[in-house]
Amino acid sequence: MFIHIGIDDTDSPNGMCTTYLGALLYRELSRIAEPLDLPRLIRLNPNIPYKTRGNGAVAMSFGADETVIPQIKDTVLFYVSQLADLEHENTNPGVVFLEGKIPNELREFSLKALGEHVTIREAERTAREVGAEYFKFKLGRGIIGSLAAIGYPLERFTYELLAYREPENWGTPRRVKEESVFLADKWTYPFSHDNVDPHKRIVLITPHGKDPVLAGIRGIDHGRVLQVFERVEFEEPVAFYQLYKTNQNTDDHLTPKKIGELRLYDSAVVRGKVAGPYWEHGRHVFFELEDETGRIRVAAFEPTKKFRNYVRKLLPGDEIIAAGGVKEHGGVLTLNLEKFYPVKLVPKVEYRKPKCPKCGGTMKSKGDYLKCKRCGYKMPRELVPVKVPRDLEKKIYEVPPDARKHLSRPLVLPGGEEKILELL
Ligand code: ATP
Repeated sequence: MFIHIGIDDTDSPNGMCTTYLGALLYRELSRIAEPLDLPRLIRLNPNIPYKTRGNGAVAMSFGADETVIPQIKDTVLFYVSQLADLEHENTNPGVVFLEGKIPNELREFSLKALGEHVTIREAERTAREVGAEYFKFKLGRGIIGSLAAIGYPLERFTYELLAYREPENWGTPRRVKEESVFLADKWTYPFSHDNVDPHKRIVLITPHGKDPVLAGIRGIDHGRVLQVFERVEFEEPVAFYQLYKTNQNTDDHLTPKKIGELRLYDSAVVRGKVAGPYWEHGRHVFFELEDETGRIRVAAFEPTKKFRNYVRKLLPGDEIIAAGGVKEHGGVLTLNLEKFYPVKLVPKVEYRKPKCPKCGGTMKSKGDYLKCKRCGYKMPRELVPVKVPRDLEKKIYEVPPDARKHLSRPLVLPGGEEKILELL
């Protein structure tokens, strides 16, 4: 028979990682049951507030003899109870087991957990309806992610290889020879992506927290992902590693919506007109976008760095397609920009001094009149409108890799433009 296992909410900023637990369990359970595929790392709604980092949950499926099912369940529950960071108040693990086929109803629940906010009660109700068994530790909020990870229709996917550290190194700086990452990336890009940021010259595969992850290597081709792992020179021991199949970098979270339909925690693509000039607050850049159904504040936050320069070039009246997550910022519903595409740009007009009508020389302002620098001709100070080129191209602009959401598809990958261009 088939058994599907979902685990979530085992970590805290003080340590642990659900993928680490998942990798240990996958290895342990593969001794007594047949894995149907790689374990799955499913990222859910990136805008919900309870997440530790990237709102990831783990699921795995096995073909197993009925007699070993109790052993499988005991092993999972034992590992979670021993390794989850139960001390932390925001860690509320949940484990779900589902036997047999994955019902359609569960797929719908998964898609809801990806795009909206769902409650623990809803998860419990769905689990009962589909005949899934769930175990809650403390509040047990993790059953939301666990159930959603099991039911997730992973039609588009990428890979992530996660390498883990020896426990004695947890909490210390990660030791990796940086140059080897740049070299490995050069060999495999774009089949493996986001290993480095070539502009900032920084390595991206190593996280910075106290968790057990040494490095995460992503890609659309699992062979190349493994190649990167082999070529990177780690200067500390790798405890073990696991390749995951994942919905990261698929843009699965983006749903086309009208501005008036946007709700807190949505991830959406909208088309609208820039409603006024941009403004800045604390290095964040904001503007308002409207369509026939409503208006929303849009933000390019400080960590998006140079991306903000493109946002600053937008003018009132420009028509754009914008993708991002809806969050509350300073009490106002705000679309946190991930990508945008200028559809139609208004002409940019600047008022300049005319050339001298007599000799063609340059005019100089002298109070309320203009005077030619060459021939001295004087005339009233009347400026002329001049159309200047808009230096925004007809292309999609995206935030830099270290500010990108796990689910967001980089433009370098095939299909990175799809969700935006659907609204053209
Ligand atoms: P990591 O990325 O290291 O695994 P995390 O960012 O995944 O950490 P969690 O500790 O898993 O953070 O916390 C996310 C919590 O939010 C989980 O309890 C999960 O069940 C819950 N959750 C996931 N999706 C939704 C949703 N759509 N609505 C409400 N709660 C959700």
